[in-house]
Amino acid sequence: MSAPALPLVDSHCHLDAPEFDADRDAVVARARAAGVTTQVIPATRAADWPALADLCAREHGLHAAYGLHPLLLAEHREAHLPQLRDRLAYSPAAAVGECGLDYFVAGLEPELQRFFFRGQLEIAHELGLPVIVHARRAVEEVVHTLRAFSGLRGVVHSYSGSEEQAQQLWKQGFMLGIGGPVSYSRAHRLRRVVSQMPLEFLLLESDAPDQPLAEQRGQRNEPACISGVLDTIATLRPESRDVIAAATTANAQRLFNLEH
Ligand SMILES: [Zn+2]
Repeated sequence: MSAPALPLVDSHCHLDAPEFDADRDAVVARARAAGVTTQVIPATRAADWPALADLCAREHGLHAAYGLHPLLLAEHREAHLPQLRDRLAYSPAAAVGECGLDYFVAGLEPELQRFFFRGQLEIAHELGLPVIVHARRAVEEVVHTLRAFSGLRGVVHSYSGSEEQAQQLWKQGFMLGIGGPVSYSRAHRLRRVVSQMPLEFLLLESDAPDQPLAEQRGQRNEPACISGVLDTIATLRPESRDVIAAATTANAQRLFNLEH
């Protein structure tokens, strides 16, 4: 019999997405069987916050984050920011997010994105919560924006920036979320960042149902697959798979203040 898998934390999983409505319990069971005992689930819009709270209250090891995702800009209202603050002040949450900037998808008004991003950073800063940041074609601006919030901690999920930007982020105390994209052999820049970054700033993530591993391209992603992300990272770094597993789990517990 093989040794039990070390516990892993999926630091970014959209388990509340409709893609999982038909078999959510089985997805959680498969994750646990793969050693993924803990998931951080970032909400993307205000309408989903109550159901996410219910899901996380029901299942051990599921932790909610509440936020307003830049891709759903059209659904956000100014009043959602004070509502977010109230929810975070009075109910358990691992983080603020998913929030951020996306300049890849057309038609998302940059000024309005900035308004909601900064609003959420202010709330996180005030309440002492970490932030889960989405940055697509916007890493440079995100690095600059975060600089104005001294003491703020968090993760730039699905990191896609340069080595220099990565360095600026961890100097500011930010972690990098690494998921399926690292399994693509042509992801040279990302693989270089992952091979050289300090292990204490690395988080594993699925971003399920999106961003599957290269070998599962086109399929729905699942939190169980972060063990495959870990396999890839172990081929890129000097430490053993177990050392990376233990470190990334400890990093997530520290950042999100999860129980051990
Ligand atoms: Zn996400």
